[in-house]
Amino acid sequence: VCPVGALSEADHTWKVVRALANPKKKVIVQVAPAVRAALGEEFGYPVGTNVEGEMVTALKKLGFDGVFDTNWAADLTIMEEASELKARLEKYLAGDEKALPILTSCCPAWVKFIEHNFPDMLDVPSTAKSPQQMFGAVAKNIWAKEEGINREDLVVVSVMPCLAKKYEAGREEFSKDGNPDVDISISTRELAKLLKQANIDLKKLEKSKFDAPLGDYTGAGVIFGRTGGVIEAATRTAYEWITGETLENVNFEVLRGYEGCRVATVKVGDLDLRIGIAHGLGEARKLLEKVKSGEEKLHAIEIMACKGGCVGGGGQPYHNGNFEIIKKRTEVLNNIDENCEIRKSHENPYIKSIYENHLEKPMSHKAHEMLHTKYFPKHKI
Ligand code: SF4
Repeated sequence: VCPVGALSEADHTWKVVRALANPKKKVIVQVAPAVRAALGEEFGYPVGTNVEGEMVTALKKLGFDGVFDTNWAADLTIMEEASELKARLEKYLAGDEKALPILTSCCPAWVKFIEHNFPDMLDVPSTAKSPQQMFGAVAKNIWAKEEGINREDLVVVSVMPCLAKKYEAGREEFSKDGNPDVDISISTRELAKLLKQANIDLKKLEKSKFDAPLGDYTGAGVIFGRTGGVIEAATRTAYEWITGETLENVNFEVLRGYEGCRVATVKVGDLDLRIGIAHGLGEARKLLEKVKSGEEKLHAIEIMACKGGCVGGGGQPYHNGNFEIIKKRTEVLNNIDENCEIRKSHENPYIKSIYENHLEKPMSHKAHEMLHTKYFPKHKI
C-alpha cells in the first residue's frame, strides 16, 4: 500500500458497469478456475468453500448475456500444448536437443519475466496462448459469428485471480484492428466489490450452471488453478497421445505438492519424462538458471509466478502469505477434478466439436492463427 495514497490498485469495475449498461453491446463473462475456490471468503464462507454455482447465479443476476468458464479454454489450451509437447518430443528423440524443454505459458507475469530476464530462451515456452486469451479469441472469432454478433458489439469480460491478466489482455498481439479479444479483466476482489455494490449476497443465492458450449469443462481444466495443475493436465493428454494407451489413473501424485521447486519423473511408455515445477518467481529464476547452464535436464516445465499457483494469485482475497489458505483453496480444485465425470481435456465433447467444426485439429494452420502467440525480448530488469 502506498503510504501517501499516490498509487492504488487498478479498479476496472466501472468498465464492467458501463458495458452492462450499454444496450448496443452484448456482454459475456469468463471465470478462471481459482476464482470459485476463493470468492466465498469475501462473503463469509469458510476458507476452502467451492462457490461455483452461487457465483454463476450472481453473474447472471448482474446481467451478463453469457456466463462461461475459462476452464473450457483451459481444456483447449491443453489440446494445443500437449500437441506441441508431442511434436517437440519427437524432434528431440530424433536428435534435436534444443526442441525441449517446453515451458507452460499461461502465466502472464511469468511470460513477462522471461521476456525481460531470459530473452535468449524465448523458444522454450509453448506458443499456446493462455486460457484467458484462447477464450477471448474463440468468443470473438467463432462464437460471435455463430450468434450473429459483430465483433465490435461483443464485450468479453474475464474474472481472474490475477492482476497480471489485465496487462495480458492489453498486449497488442491479442487484438484485431485495435479490438481486443478480452476487453476487460477484473480480479476476484473486484468481482466481490461489484456484487456487493449490486447488493447481491452469494449466501442467499441458488446454484446454477455455466452456459453452454463455452462453459463445459473437464477435471483437467479446473486444476489449472493450482501449482502443478497445468503440467498434470497436459501429461494426462500427452500420455495417451504418445503411447496410444488409455491412462487409467489420472492422478499424477508425483507432480503435486507445495515445494517451491520440484522435479519428478513420469513414465510415458518407454520414456522417463523429467518434469520441473516452480511457483514463485525466485524459485522460477533458480530453476531456469539450472536449465540454462545444463545442470538440470528437463523435458517439460511448469512455472507460475504466484506461490501455490493461481489459487494464491494477487487478485484473490488477501491470504497474507498464509499457506494453509492456499492449501484449502487447492483442495477445492482437486475435489472438483475428482468429481468430474470426464478428467482428460481431449475427451471434452465441446472441445472435440470446435476442432471438427472450425479448427480442424490441434496445431493446424487455423488453430495456430487463432490460438498461438509470439514472445518478444525486452530490456533487462
Ligand atoms: Fe496470475 Fe499468479 Fe496465476 Fe500467474 S500464477 S496467472 S500471476 S494469478
